[in-house]
Amino acid sequence: MHLIDTHSHLEDFIFNGEIEEILTRAREAGLVNIITCSTNPAEWPVYQKLCAETPDISWQIGIHPTEIKPEYADAFEAFGTFFTGKAAPVAIGETGLDFYWLPKDPEEAEAVKARQMENFKRHLMLASQFNTKVCVHARNSIDECVEAISASGVPFSNVVFHCYSGTAEQMKMLNDLGARGSFTGIITYKNAEEMREAMLAQGIEKLMLETDCPYLAPVPFRGKKNEPSLLPYTARSAGEAFGVSPQYIADATTQNAKDFFGLL
Ligand SMILES: [Zn+2]
Repeated sequence: MHLIDTHSHLEDFIFNGEIEEILTRAREAGLVNIITCSTNPAEWPVYQKLCAETPDISWQIGIHPTEIKPEYADAFEAFGTFFTGKAAPVAIGETGLDFYWLPKDPEEAEAVKARQMENFKRHLMLASQFNTKVCVHARNSIDECVEAISASGVPFSNVVFHCYSGTAEQMKMLNDLGARGSFTGIITYKNAEEMREAMLAQGIEKLMLETDCPYLAPVPFRGKKNEPSLLPYTARSAGEAFGVSPQYIADATTQNAKDFFGLL
C-alpha cells in the first residue's frame, strides 16, 4: 500500500533529532512522499534543506494565520528565491484564516482578523505570481476564504482546504468552484460523523489524506503524538466510510496527490 501524507509538520522531529527514525517508520508503512508545511519563515530554509537531501519529502512555504508576527513582514521578499533552483516548494502554505481562536475583546478580534486577511491576500498574490497550489487553513472562515480567493484570481482548482472542517454542503460548494478538501485522522474519531459526511460528499476522485502531524493522531492513537507512519489508519477508515478497500483508497489518494501537487 502506497500513501502520500499531503500535510504534515516535521519541524519538531527535525529539532528533536528524530527525523531519520520517523522517515524510516513512514517508509515501512508505505509512505512514498511526505509534504511538510511551513508555519513561519524560520522553517523555510530548514525544509528546503531537508527536501534537497531527501527525495521523498516535499514542502510548502507560508506563514500560518495564527503565527503572524510584525517581524515576518519582510520575509515575503525572499519568497521568490525559494522557487528558483532545487527543492522548490510544491505549494504555498499553510495560509488562510483562523477565526476560531480570537481575542474576546471585539475590537482586538477585528484587528486580528484584518491582520490574517492581509497575510492571506499576500499569499494569494504570490500564488498567482508563481502559479502554484495553495494550502488553505480555514477554521470558522470558509466563506471569508472563498471571497478572498475569488478576488485574488487564483483558480480554485489550485486550492486545497486542508484538514477540512466544514459541512458537506460547504464541501459541495467548494467542489463546484473547483477547490477540494483533504482529510486527517479526525475521520477515524467516533464523533466525527459530519466530517465523514463531508468526505463522502466530495467523493474519492478528489480525495487526499494527511496526518497534520504531530497533531490529530488517528484512532487507536488519538491523543498521542502523530507521525506520517500512522496515515494507513486514516486510509483504512476512509475505506470503511466509502465501502472500498484500503488499497483502493491508497491508490486513488496517492494518484490524486501526485496530480494535484505535481509530484513525481
Ligand atoms: Zn497544518
